Amino acid sequence: MKIILFDLEETLIEDWNVPTLLCEQFPKIKEWIAKEGEFQSGIFSWAIWDQKDLTSFNKELRGRIEESHNIHFNDNLIFLRDDILKSFREWFHMPFMDSDDFMAFFKKRQAIEELWLRHFNQPDTELVFLDDTVPNMVCVISDVKNNILRLVNSKDIR
Ligand SMILES: [Mg+2]
Repeated sequence: MKIILFDLEETLIEDWNVPTLLCEQFPKIKEWIAKEGEFQSGIFSWAIWDQKDLTSFNKELRGRIEESHNIHFNDNLIFLRDDILKSFREWFHMPFMDSDDFMAFFKKRQAIEELWLRHFNQPDTELVFLDDTVPNMVCVISDVKNNILRLVNSKDIR
């Protein structure tokens, strides 16, 4: 199974407060998505904090992104930042970590790696993360068969 998680700000859209599609990268990203073949789509973005943000995303932005990029987001693969924060409190035994601490301690790359190891740790799973801050790299878990994490920097797509 292949899953692609998309970042939003500076990857698919300009900014949460200026939710227009990111024009400069748009054709390249669309082409990249088409080349990836069959996959399930999700979102891993610090822009969607909670259920309220998700509701406004679903109402205002989701359809536009899905249509323009020819993808369909799976509701089970849209991660809220507050849920990630809750998981990190548990995983790292930091029950009092607030949202500012979380943002200061954990960069996107570490966050996606933890999510991969703890949530997508199954055989024959390729998790791809398209984001404007991650390095281009492939991570492999040696004891899980065919499980890889591929990080793709959206700014490097040509
Ligand atoms: Mg971003």
